Amino acid sequence: DELHQVCSILGYGMAEAKKCAYYLYRKGKRNFMDMELLPKILRSELEGQLTISWHSPIKEQISGDGTKKYLFKTPSGNFIEAAFMPGPKRNTLCISTQAGCRMGCSFCHTATIGFRENLAASEILNQLVSIPERALVNRIVFMGMGEPLDNFWNVKKSLQILTEGWGMAFGAANITVSTVGIPAPLEELFSLGLCNIAISLHSPFSEERMGLMPIEKRHPIAKTLTLARELSLPKTLRLSFEYILLNGVNDSPTHALELAKILAGIKCHVNLIPLNGHQSTTLASPTTKQARDFQRQLNTLGISTTLRTSRGGDISAACGQFSASSKQ
Ligand code: SAH
Repeated sequence: DELHQVCSILGYGMAEAKKCAYYLYRKGKRNFMDMELLPKILRSELEGQLTISWHSPIKEQISGDGTKKYLFKTPSGNFIEAAFMPGPKRNTLCISTQAGCRMGCSFCHTATIGFRENLAASEILNQLVSIPERALVNRIVFMGMGEPLDNFWNVKKSLQILTEGWGMAFGAANITVSTVGIPAPLEELFSLGLCNIAISLHSPFSEERMGLMPIEKRHPIAKTLTLARELSLPKTLRLSFEYILLNGVNDSPTHALELAKILAGIKCHVNLIPLNGHQSTTLASPTTKQARDFQRQLNTLGISTTLRTSRGGDISAACGQFSASSKQ
C-alpha cells in the first residue's frame, strides 16, 4: 500500500508498485535505477524521493559447525545480530527484532545490554536481504535479540512482507516467532496466522519463573496458557514452548510433572534448549544424560519434545553474545 501510494502520486499504479516490491524484496536492489522493468522516469522520481535502506553486515564470524553470525549496525548506531544455521534439510536464519531488550531474563546475554531501540521493519528484514546466504534461507526464526511482541507493529509489518506473494513469499509454516508471552499482541499474532508461535516457558512454577523472567510478574504464564487454550492457529502452523534446561534449577522430575500438568489440553510441542552459557550467568546447562532423562520423563507424561543441540558455541552465537562483545 505504501509503495502503491507513492507510485500513484507519480501517476503510476499497482502494477508498478508490485514490480518495485519485487526488486526490493526478492532481488534486494539498493538502487531504483537498477529496477529495469520500471519506466525510466518513475525510477528517477523514486530515486529522488525515497531511500532504500538495505545495508551489509559490518562483521561476520563462522563457527566450526557451519553457523555464521552477522553483526549489523543500525542507522542510529546500535549493534544487532543474525545467525545463519545451515542444516541437512533446513537452512535457518535467526533474526533480531530489537537492539537490546527490556525483558531482563536472568539467563540471557541480551538482557545485559539493556534496551536500545526497536528495529524498523526494514531493519528486521535487512538481516535476511543483506546476507550472502539469502537465497539459501528457507526457515526464519524471530529468536535473536529482543522481544518481538514488544515491537509488535514492526514485527507484524515484517511478517506481512515476508509472507505476501508480492513480498518474499515465505510460507508461514517456515517462520517462527518466539515470545515471552504478552497477552494482547499474542492474541493478535494467533489471529494473523502468519507464523508458528513459540512461547518461552522455562519454569512451570510462577515464583521460579519470576526469578528467571521478570515478565512473569506483569503477565503470568498461567494467563498466557489460558489464552493458548482458547485460541488456535491454522492447521499448518505449530504452537511450541521453549524450555531452557538449567542444571539443578528447572530439570527435576517435579518440574517435568508440573510442566505436563500445566500444558494439559494444549496442542503443542516442547523444545528443550540446554543453556548456552556465557560470562554473565552462573547458571549452567545439565549434562546430555540429565537432559535426556528430563526429556524421557516428559515423553512418558505424553508431552512431545525435541532436545535442541546448541549451535555456534565457539562464536558466541547465543542471544546477544556477538553484539554484547562488540564495542558500543
Ligand atoms: N524474547 C523472545 C525471543 C528472543 S530469545 C523470547 O524470549 O522468546 C529466544 C529464545 O532463546 C528464548 O526461548 C530464550 O529464552 C532463549 N535464550 C536466551 N538466552 C539463552 C541462552 N543463554 N541459552 C539458551 N537459550 C537462550
